[in-house]
Amino acid sequence: MDDLGEGIEGQPETLAIEDAVKVLLQGLGEDINREGIKKTPFRVAKALREATKGYKQKVKDIVEGALFPEAGLDATVGNAGGAGGLVVVRDLDLFSYCESCLLPFQFKCHVGYIPSGHRVVGLSKLSRVADVFAKRLQDPQRLADEVCSALHRWIEPAGVAVVLECWHPSLESFLPDSNRKGGWSRVFVRSGSGVFDNVEGESWNDFLSLLKLKTENSTSSWSWSRSCASLKVSSINGQLLDSRMVAAVDSILRCLGEDPVREELVGTPVRFVKWLMNFRNTGLEMKLNGFVYGRGVDSLKANNKEEQLQTEVNLSFWSQCEHHLLPFYGVVHIGYFGFNRVPKSLLRSIVHFYGFKLQVQERLTRQIAEVVSSLVGGDVMVVVEAAHTCMISRGIEKFGSSTATIAVLGRFSADPGARAMFVQSLPNSSIELGPS
Ligand SMILES: [Zn+2]
Ligand SMILES: [Zn+2]
Repeated sequence: MDDLGEGIEGQPETLAIEDAVKVLLQGLGEDINREGIKKTPFRVAKALREATKGYKQKVKDIVEGALFPEAGLDATVGNAGGAGGLVVVRDLDLFSYCESCLLPFQFKCHVGYIPSGHRVVGLSKLSRVADVFAKRLQDPQRLADEVCSALHRWIEPAGVAVVLECWHPSLESFLPDSNRKGGWSRVFVRSGSGVFDNVEGESWNDFLSLLKLKTENSTSSWSWSRSCASLKVSSINGQLLDSRMVAAVDSILRCLGEDPVREELVGTPVRFVKWLMNFRNTGLEMKLNGFVYGRGVDSLKANNKEEQLQTEVNLSFWSQCEHHLLPFYGVVHIGYFGFNRVPKSLLRSIVHFYGFKLQVQERLTRQIAEVVSSLVGGDVMVVVEAAHTCMISRGIEKFGSSTATIAVLGRFSADPGARAMFVQSLPNSSIELGPS
């Protein structure tokens, strides 16, 4: 692998991106010397540079030397091997960065080609070639087209077929008034050359029948542009964006080797800053609007009733990882002992308040527990389940992995039985983790 490796530290492009990220952090109202985010500019620069290293890679270098002759069947008998037989590599797990919003997205790549001239290519090279184009700022259809035409050019087969199943973080789905569940938009694209030019042709039928696509209806109703367009998130509209932040994103694009005036990138800095501004540090404390929890009051107490375990599960949230400046999302489950229930709307706004800022999941969990504790008198347990897009961009994401964090206060910390009772009440797999 031609990784950028350690070498990227201190390089001019890296330093310039770090400076731009500092501008973004300051624009969010953050102190760039705060311990938690001190290293964020470097982490962001490193992730972005690694995710765009494909600009410097050449398909020729990968494919050349990996082509070998394979006799194949005599054409009068049938098709196989180096002549006319379909070769398929499926389920390559890769990721790329969306050029329209600068968030990482995951995809499964399926490649098929039909050799010609007794010429075949080492199978591992198909994945390498796909990754060259994935490691650029991309759009799914262009990515599929570029992989397809590069393979066609360098292998010179009878035809190439590329299918991508992409999962883009669906930013809309976790906004307060959204009805959508789950954090991903799924997009399905394909590209073909040579005998795969005709999408209705039998070559495509052969290829698709070999892919175990989980697609009864293989096109998603959620178009790519729509999931990014949702970045025009409510609260920011009508407000002037900080032009220094927009210029900073512009300079990041330049440092990555991109041309910020390329048509598809023109709106990207504004979209990215709009999204980011959802997480600005308002410096406000959570206001509880005078809510007084009727703990232990009158009539109930008179009945000598025992406090009940109350639960509120699956409160969804979006947050922004302060280490990598990328979103994480998921659900919060809250358990507490009390006679009465805290209104769901109040718990939801607590989750929302602590979610929409630069965060780490552990702190989010603790902060929610503390504020709920102040409402209900101390016996609180909070479980946060989340998926982190920064795991994708660091290449350590296994499709569908998630993290859980737990905070226990009061009776919950002393009593395993109470914890067990709450955990048993939790729904199974409550977040849609995207591809699995
Ligand atoms: Zn996007
Ligand atoms: Zn992170």
